[in-house]
Amino acid sequence: MEGVKGLESDLEAMRQYFRSGKTKDAAWRQSQLKGLLLFIKENEKHIFNALKKDLGKHHVEAYRDEVGTVTKSINFALHGLKEWMSSKKAKLPRVALLSSAELVPEPLGFVLIISSWNFPFGLSLEPLIGAIAAGNTAVLKPSELAPASASLLANVLPTYLDNKAVKVLQGGPAVGERLLQQKWDKIFFTGSARVGRIIMSAAVNHLTPTVLELGGKSPAVVDSLSSSWDRQVTVNRILVSKFGACAGQACIAIDYILVEKRFASTLVELMKVMIKKMFGENPRETNTIARIVNQQHFLRLKNLLKDPAVQNSIVYGGSLDEKNLFIDPTILVDPPLDAAIMTEEIFGPLLPIITLDNVEDSIAFINSKPKPLAIYAFIKNEKLKRRMLSETSSGSLVFNDAVIQYAADSLPFGGIGESGVGKYHGKFSFDTFSHYKAVARRSFLTDFWYRFPPWNDYKLLL
Ligand code: NAD
Repeated sequence: MEGVKGLESDLEAMRQYFRSGKTKDAAWRQSQLKGLLLFIKENEKHIFNALKKDLGKHHVEAYRDEVGTVTKSINFALHGLKEWMSSKKAKLPRVALLSSAELVPEPLGFVLIISSWNFPFGLSLEPLIGAIAAGNTAVLKPSELAPASASLLANVLPTYLDNKAVKVLQGGPAVGERLLQQKWDKIFFTGSARVGRIIMSAAVNHLTPTVLELGGKSPAVVDSLSSSWDRQVTVNRILVSKFGACAGQACIAIDYILVEKRFASTLVELMKVMIKKMFGENPRETNTIARIVNQQHFLRLKNLLKDPAVQNSIVYGGSLDEKNLFIDPTILVDPPLDAAIMTEEIFGPLLPIITLDNVEDSIAFINSKPKPLAIYAFIKNEKLKRRMLSETSSGSLVFNDAVIQYAADSLPFGGIGESGVGKYHGKFSFDTFSHYKAVARRSFLTDFWYRFPPWNDYKLLL
């Protein structure tokens, strides 16, 4: 698809291709998934280069979060496809004697995927795996803010796929808005709540079902752990998931930490030591932390630190290199709760720690905010774990680790409330792009006379 010229006729051709039934074949779906796999395999180096160019991601991090994760997901879909496509038996009520019923998954049709820049391959290809596995035709619009990645997806990916069924279209909000005017059978969006609202209002016109994978402020609760091993494990897992995954520019990154006052300084001291061990004395030079995506986002993060009360709360890091779009891992203790850093999603390498009198108070704190995409709770106390599970609501809840839920094929990935609508990953991706048609079959033999008029009260008793 060249730019957006001839957009309408290109899209109409894709709708017709879907109607031809070609994409419903199991063999077609398999061949497309294999094409995706080959794209990743043969272009691994180009993917690493694009991620370096767009985000300064280290290739090991890029492998873990994008190449490796997507490869695993494609293999999972290839393995499960036949089973997923099969119909599932269901039961009809006794009144429908001599009958059978089933749920038959069918593709939705022609779908739109709009993705974000922070994991430009993962967030584009994970939903595409689901769309293809379910037998849909799809248009993918990656984010314009990761241009090297978007260009690789637009120029190289199609050579591995059936071009009549999958198109990649580059562009920013204007292209996105133009696409939203079209009629889709589903819109799958990853991005901000602000644009999520635009997507949802556009979808109203055609009653298009939408998935919104959004973000927000995901908290981590850290209990006053007594064992030095547990403390160390906690700190390692917090740091790698915050600073070692796109420099905190991840929807499920820990946004802030809640900890008891008496444990806060111990936690901070351990973090200071481990940041140096993990990322080096000067992370800017070691290239182990990604950089901020662009100047606009850099200035947004800089502004979060501008408030003098926020500045005073910095206990580690805080240096910013605008030329290289690099921000040191930064820890803050008790910035004002009404400062932007505590009211807006941070999406960067700034980590506020909020101190509480009791770790139990974290539940009320979390519940006073919109439902987050994830809650992380580093706690051993089983009673508190049970309370956290039953008294809070979030897209996911992880005890004693962070971010690992993203890689699980067996868990649905998605938000709730302000953090999103709908879910995917593993078979959930297939389900997201499928309609389960209810099919009932009856024999012409036998019937119950009380089912039919003329009505009388005796029939009511039966
Ligand atoms: P964004 O909403 O600015 O952009 C996302 C996509 O929408 C891009 O492709 C962009 O070109 C497109 N877009 C922008 N304006 C549009 C418009 N008016 N009409 C149609 N399309 C439009 O978000 P972003 O900066 O790419 O990502 C940051 C946000 O995304 C954060 O809030 C983050 O938490 C969230 N996010 C969520 C997930 C998740 O899986 N839940 C993953 C990554 C990012």
